[in-house]
Amino acid sequence: MLARPDAYRCSECGLPYRSEGFWYYQGKIENGAAYWSDRGILCSPQCSLAHHRKRATDGTLRQEPAPDPFEVQPFTQR
Ligand SMILES: [Zn+2]
Repeated sequence: MLARPDAYRCSECGLPYRSEGFWYYQGKIENGAAYWSDRGILCSPQCSLAHHRKRATDGTLRQEPAPDPFEVQPFTQR
C-alpha cells in the first residue's frame, strides 16, 4: 500500500522534517517546509535543485507549482 509517511522527510536525501538543517518557510517550523514538489518535501535549496534536475532528466517535471502538502496539516490552519 501507499506509504503515508508518519514523519515527513526530504524526498532527495531522506533528512527527516524537524531535523537540524531542514529549511522551513520563512525560517519557522510551523510554516512548513521551504521547498517541496508534488512528490514530497525537500530539505534545502540544494536538494530542491537536485530534485528539479532529476525530474527534468526524467522528463517528469511539472509545469505548474505543486500543491502545498502542508495545507491540509492542522498546524498550518489560520
Ligand atoms: Zn534533502
